[in-house]
Parts: sequence; C-alpha cells; structure tokens
Amino acid sequence: SKATHRAKTVFTPPSAKAASETKSIIARDLPLALEHESFSFVYQPQFHTGTGAFSGVEVLLRWEHPDIGFVNPEWVFEVAERTGMLLEMDRWIMQKAVQNLSPLYQIQPFQVSINLSSFHADPHELAAVIRQTAGKGLIPAEHLTFELTENPEPESTEQLHLFLESLKETGVRIALDDFGKGYSSMSYIQRLPIHTLKLDRTFIQDLDTDSAHRWLVKAMVTMGRRFQLSVIAEGVETGEQLALLKECGCPFVQGYYFARPMPLEELKKKLMMNTYR
Ligand code: C2E
Ligand code: CA
Ligand code: CA
Ligand code: CA
Repeated sequence: SKATHRAKTVFTPPSAKAASETKSIIARDLPLALEHESFSFVYQPQFHTGTGAFSGVEVLLRWEHPDIGFVNPEWVFEVAERTGMLLEMDRWIMQKAVQNLSPLYQIQPFQVSINLSSFHADPHELAAVIRQTAGKGLIPAEHLTFELTENPEPESTEQLHLFLESLKETGVRIALDDFGKGYSSMSYIQRLPIHTLKLDRTFIQDLDTDSAHRWLVKAMVTMGRRFQLSVIAEGVETGEQLALLKECGCPFVQGYYFARPMPLEELKKKLMMNTYR
C-alpha cells in the first residue's frame, strides 16, 4: 500500500539505500567481471606468535569497479550467493590464487589460506574443485588451508562433516573461520576433521579491556590444544592484544599490527628482504 511504501521510504537510512544500490550494481556486473577476470588479490601474512616467524598468507579478493571503486568483498559474496555464482567464484579464486602464489612458494614454502563460501550451496562440487586443485601439485595439499565459516543452522553440521570426510584423503587443511561466533562450534569441533580454529576478530578487539573475552580466548586456545588443533587469532591490531594472546598460548596471529593485506609484489619484496623472519 501507499502508506507502507511511504513508511519504508522514510525509515530507510541513506546508507542502507546506498548499500542496496551498490549491491544491484554488483549483481549486474559480477558475471562479466568474472568472465573478464577483473579481480585481483591481496595477501595478508600470518605469523608464529612465539618466534614472530612468517608462517603463511590469507588470500583476500579485491574488485575495483570502474564506477563505484573498490567493492566490499563481503557484499561480493553475499550477492554471489543470491545469484548462484558462489561456486564459480570459489573455483576461480582457488585456481588463480594457487597459480599466483606458486612461484613464491617454490622459493620459500608457506601455508596458503583461501576462503571458501560455496560449501553450503555446493558441497559435492566444491569438494571436486578442491581435489582437482590439490591434485595439480602447484602447492602441496598440506600447505593449502581452506577457511570455512560455519552456518548458523545446526542441521548443516552433518553436511559439513560429510564434506570434510570426503576431503580427508586429499591432505588439505581446514580452518573454521570466525570461530566462537556461531552456535554449535564448541560442541562439534571434537567430531570434525579440521586442523585450525580461527578465532573471530570480535574476541581479539577488546581483549585488553574485556576480561570475559580474555577468558574466552584462553578457553578456546586450551580447547584447541586439547583436540590437537592449531589456533590463529585474526584482527590483531595492538601490542597489548599480542601480549595477551601470548599469555593465552595462542600459537598463530594475523592482523594490522603485523601487516596489512598487500599485493603479491609487495609480499615478494618483504619475503626476499627477510622483513619477516
Ligand atoms: P574474513 O575471512 O574474516 O577476512 C578477514 C578480514 O579482516 C579481511 O577483510 C581483512 O582485510 C580484515 N583484517 C585483517 N586484519 C585486520 C585487522 O587487524 N583489523 C581489522 N579491523 N580487520 C582486519 P576483507 O578483505 O574486507 O574481507 C572481508 C570478508 O570478505 C572476509 O572476511 C571473507 O568473509 C570475505 N572474503 C574476502 N576475500 C574472499 C575470498 O577470496 N573468498 C571468499 N569466499 N570470501 C572472501
Ligand atoms: Ca578468512
Ligand atoms: Ca574471519
Ligand atoms: Ca568471514
């Protein structure tokens, strides 16, 4: 009705309107962008907490749209999910990232972490793509980590379990991204064939001011160790946070405090110059 329409118009904040317009542009242009490979990547280094040694990188997608500039990657994947393009995106990203990093890997091996979003939509297809990518041997399977984010629906746990079981023989590693934020994570990590817990940034953010979060991080690290999982904290921005993570025994860290996500050339320079030990 007219009244509802007016109410909607009145109560939609300008930023939300801009967001939905941007998302329409993304939806319109994503297929051609993928076809023309208009994306790039940045790589964010990860470090061993105790020694400060460089341990790997997380691959992050970037899309500079000719009209609207750099697009929020979260929106890219939100739109890709809505338009049924997740698997195609994941496939392209996985293959390109491995191709791009392989020359650097040959010089100095490291862990390569790639985010995947299509597992909820296409577990079988995605598993096939992973097997194929790992089979190419550009980066050995044990140095490939795939970051998955748990689905809020508890029923999806069984699906995740089957998906991970089907990947076991490939030797690739699995990280649970945004860990601690979801519902069922605590109860099922003991059953799932995963390797890494990636502690959600929100726990790290106020580590220095929120003692409850400090306690939670400590508990998650302890639990990780108990189940022989690696643990990495993301979004580490300050020395205080690092000190507290050390105290908690968190073995790996990533965040602006150490390095921002960077283009391949810059990463290569830093590694060649031994900027990271
Ligand atoms: P995510 O997987 O949780 O990635 C971490 C995000 O935190 C990245 O944002 C990264 O740039 C940012 N970040 C890193 N260190 C810090 C820090 O110290 N402080 C703060 N505040 N932020 C930090 P980005 O690149 O904008 O990506 C956002 C999300 O988009 C990612 O969250 C992921 O869910 C998705 N995404 C990005 N690239 C890809 C991709 O290639 N494939 C898939 N499937 N998803 C991707
Ligand atoms: Ca991630
Ligand atoms: Ca995350
Ligand atoms: Ca995420």
